[in-house]
Amino acid sequence: MALLDHYQQQLDQLKQTGNLRQFTANEQHGAYIEIAGRKMLNLSSNDYLGLAANTQLREEFLDQQPIQRRYFSSSSSRLLTGNFEEYEQFEANLSQAFLGRAALLFNSGYHMNIGILPALSDGKTLILADKLVHASMIDGIRLSSAKYVRYRHNDLQHLTQLLEKYHDDVDIERIIVVTESIFSMDGDETDLAALVQIKHGFDKVMLYVDEAHAIGVRGEQGLGCAEQYNVMADIDLLVGTFGKACASVGGYLMCDRIIRSYLINTMRPLIFSTALPPINIAWSDFIFKKVMAAKSERLHLHRISQDLQAAIVARGYSSPSTSQIIPIIVGASQTAVEKSQSVQQHGFYAMPVRPPTVPQHSARLRISLTSLIQSDDLERLVACL
Ligand SMILES: *Cc1c(COP(=O)(O)O)cnc(C)c1O
Repeated sequence: MALLDHYQQQLDQLKQTGNLRQFTANEQHGAYIEIAGRKMLNLSSNDYLGLAANTQLREEFLDQQPIQRRYFSSSSSRLLTGNFEEYEQFEANLSQAFLGRAALLFNSGYHMNIGILPALSDGKTLILADKLVHASMIDGIRLSSAKYVRYRHNDLQHLTQLLEKYHDDVDIERIIVVTESIFSMDGDETDLAALVQIKHGFDKVMLYVDEAHAIGVRGEQGLGCAEQYNVMADIDLLVGTFGKACASVGGYLMCDRIIRSYLINTMRPLIFSTALPPINIAWSDFIFKKVMAAKSERLHLHRISQDLQAAIVARGYSSPSTSQIIPIIVGASQTAVEKSQSVQQHGFYAMPVRPPTVPQHSARLRISLTSLIQSDDLERLVACL
């Protein structure tokens, strides 16, 4: 089996360098996760508002969903016969929440990010992307025919320099600036108000902002950093996902009606993939209303996040976080692995993140908080750091 030997050797190499990835079986109970018989507080969850863990919500949803509407497949793309009323209804509700902008749903955040950029780009498009954007956006850029330059992470001065350099190039008709609002590895955030200010100085620019970690968590109604900083109408392509705080699955885009129609005609992951089951869309719609109302959960999450950020800095670690994602940067990969093992022994499930996922010498223990976590949990965590 010489053909398989090649792959086995690569796997062996990953194992030797401590980089082999494997699935681990786990069982979840509320704020806790059980792995190999050990029950730990889950500090690696994206269920930021604790809604995915809430069995009452599941019951309430299923009770109000008649069996005739419990479709577990849409059986085709929305352009064929998959456009069930659940889709229309949820998009209408999203549109209403986001100040009347058009809404378009996708099967996942990954589909969304690999589909929109290629559809909107051509050889006269330049994409300027933050150095740390999520892999799904990188893949979208790679699939596009746009020219592509990255700017230093969160460095809006560098972005401005690049805009000044390229904006008057006659071969460039449009520039799409791509960023996240809250970043998934550093837990820091883009200054969206400043970004919008910059955009207004250049008429070829469209902004593409991914709020995967901010939807549900930021803003009075949980509509993300765009709501918090009052720039919802200024972000041309405002995207997010339902798999994290929204306890569901799928992605959304808020945009101009023209862009929505254009994507329905050109975006390949939307055209050539079976749409999510209507029951998932109905659940997203149901849970989104709960998300908008979850003010006390947001407030609690915000408070414990600030407390942990401060405690970590007080212990002498550096952490760039301004959000519920809180990395504890320790430097060496081995140290990060040891820290992770040590906190797990104390009953806290947090994972190490190492290069190449993060830059050299910035290996870290990555903590993500949810509203299910209490202050005294964090005091015990900080004590064992
Ligand atoms: C999780 C994530 C995605 C992918 O979303 P899925 O719905 O899980 O496919 C996209 N962008 C960012 C920034 C993410 O963190």
